[in-house]
Amino acid sequence: MRLVSPLLKHVLYPCLAGSGYLRRRSGAGPAIVTYHGVLPPDYQPLDAALDGSLVTAEALRQQLHLLKAHYSLISPEQFLQWCEGKQELPPRSVLLSCDDGLRNTLTDMLPILQEAEVSCLFFVTGASLDDAPSMLWYEELYLMFLAAPETLTLELSQIGGQAQAAGLCAKRRMWWDLVKKLSQYETVARQALVDQIRIQSGLPTDWASPYYDPAGRGRRFLLLNRPELRLLAGSGMCIGAHTLSHPVLSHTPPEVARREISESRSRLEEHLGQPVWALAYPFGDADSVTQRELDMAAQAGFTCAFLNLDGGLGADTPRFALRRVHVTADMTLAEFEAHVSGFHRLLRRRFLREEVSLLM
Ligand SMILES: [Zn+2]
Repeated sequence: MRLVSPLLKHVLYPCLAGSGYLRRRSGAGPAIVTYHGVLPPDYQPLDAALDGSLVTAEALRQQLHLLKAHYSLISPEQFLQWCEGKQELPPRSVLLSCDDGLRNTLTDMLPILQEAEVSCLFFVTGASLDDAPSMLWYEELYLMFLAAPETLTLELSQIGGQAQAAGLCAKRRMWWDLVKKLSQYETVARQALVDQIRIQSGLPTDWASPYYDPAGRGRRFLLLNRPELRLLAGSGMCIGAHTLSHPVLSHTPPEVARREISESRSRLEEHLGQPVWALAYPFGDADSVTQRELDMAAQAGFTCAFLNLDGGLGADTPRFALRRVHVTADMTLAEFEAHVSGFHRLLRRRFLREEVSLLM
C-alpha cells in the first residue's frame, strides 16, 4: 500500500514541485512510469481498490504536459538501445509504459498519447491474442465478490476447503487469498474453479453481462482482443508481454511459470510479426516476483523485464528487475513529479526506512 502522508502530499510535494526543485534533480537511470489505462468519461468508478490504478483523461494530459515541459520523454526504441548499451539517454529521461491491455488503452489513452506525440510501451496478456472479448480473471473474480451476498461462504476442496467472509473488507482479503491460490492453475482449470465460486455465490451465468457491454463498462473492463491489439501496434506503439494469463507468478509451479513467461513472448511475436523484447511481471511487487522469475525472463529471450514498484530517476536498473513508478488515480500532479524525480523513493529510504529489499 502506498504510504504518502497528507503532509507530503498536500504540503511538501507541492512546495518542492512549485519551486522547481524536483525537476532540477537527476539520476543515473531513466524513470519508468506505469499506467493501467484511462477511465472512460461516462464510467463511474465502482470501487477504489478496483479502479485505483486507472487515471482520468485530464490527469494523463496534465502528467504528459509536465513531462514534455521539464523531462525528456524517450521512446521504447530509445530505451531498448540504452538497455543494450548502444545509446546514451538524455538527462531526466522518462519512459511511459502501460500494463494489462485494457480496451480503454485504445479508445481513451491512445488519442491522448497521439495528441501529445509520445509513444508508450504497452504490456498485454495472451488474452489479447483471442478474438473473443474477456476480462482479467482476477478483476472478474473481484466483481463477482462485489455482486455476491454480504456474507459469502465458499467450499473449494481443491484449494483449502471452506472459507467464509462477511463484509467488504473480509471479502477483499478472501479475494486476494483466492487470487494467489488460483494462480497455480492454467486458464482452463482456473476458470472451472471460478465457475464453482460463481455458483456458490448464487450468481447466474450471465451475471457479468453489463461488463461486456462495449458501449458501457466494457471499455473499462474488457481486454483488447486480437484485432484491437493489431490496431494498437499499428498505431506506432510498442508491445511487450505481460504473461499468458496474469497469474501471481511466485505462486505458480515452475512449469506453469515458465510457460506463462516464454509462450507470451513467442505467441505475441507470431501474431505481431515483430520482436517482443520486454516483459512486465504481473502485479510486479516484491511478493509476486522472485529470483526464479527473473531467471526465467532472461532464459525466455527477453532483453529486459519490469517490476512495478520503487521507480523514479536514479533507481537501480538491473535489466530483469527494472523498477517503475506505479501511477494511481489519487496521485496529485506534485506527487506524480515527486515519484518520477526519484525524490519520493529517496525520502522513503532515508527517513521512513522503507528499503525495498527485493530479490537480489
Ligand atoms: Zn497487470
